[in-house]
Amino acid sequence: MRKKIVAANWKMNLSFQEAEELIEEFIDLLSEEEELQTDIIVCPPFPYLEMAGDYAAESSFKVGAQNISSFQAGAYTGEVSAGMLKSMGVSHCIIGHSERRKYFHEEEKILTAKVNQALANELIPIFCVGELLPEREAGKHHQVVRKQVRHGLFHLDTNEFEKVIIAYEPVWAIGTGMTALPEQAAEMHAYIRSLIAERYHQDVADRTKILYGGSCNAQNANQIFSQPGVDGGLIGGASLNATEFFTICKNAQ
Ligand code: PEP
Repeated sequence: MRKKIVAANWKMNLSFQEAEELIEEFIDLLSEEEELQTDIIVCPPFPYLEMAGDYAAESSFKVGAQNISSFQAGAYTGEVSAGMLKSMGVSHCIIGHSERRKYFHEEEKILTAKVNQALANELIPIFCVGELLPEREAGKHHQVVRKQVRHGLFHLDTNEFEKVIIAYEPVWAIGTGMTALPEQAAEMHAYIRSLIAERYHQDVADRTKILYGGSCNAQNANQIFSQPGVDGGLIGGASLNATEFFTICKNAQ
């Protein structure tokens, strides 16, 4: 039985004070719920990671970064390495988010290097894949996701691959309020799992955690997360409200 995971992607939102208030409010809610079985990962912007880590040390959630450099270290002004993040207690890192693919032109070679950097530095990659709306409308969604999964992850050996969390995020559902139908999510998750079984082994596929992301909220999370093969969610907008995010975490159980 795979444990459910809910990860918050705050993106580039909130002042430091607002971020601290959000975490405090969330921790208060968490502390009232002793039985919560969900693994929770909060991914704030880089400058708030230390603060989030300090709160996490006293609570039950983990802290992830939204990005890492594809380089190990050195003269790369403005970059943040996986090793730096690891050394400050960060455990996870989002890689391949559609916003990074689109606005920062992160293509396959860069994403592969980032996955390698994360694993070499003992960070767990949350590797995002997902098709654009025209690609789904043209019936190319399987082809697109297959290519993303293969190029981003299938160079890994079994041991490394098993550390990765995959997030299926149809790009047309991110921040649009247009959630995938629960059946669409279940179907794509099953497809991704079939690719993993083909490349590695059925047992590996059965153990792989695959999250859904795209306009999840307190109202729809339960329905999506209860689909077969959906192991929780990557939550953007709705993670900026403590009560809503907490409800999503509860619904994931
Ligand atoms: C995301 O950015 O990963 C995401 C799923 O965003 P939203 O929940 O706002 O659609």
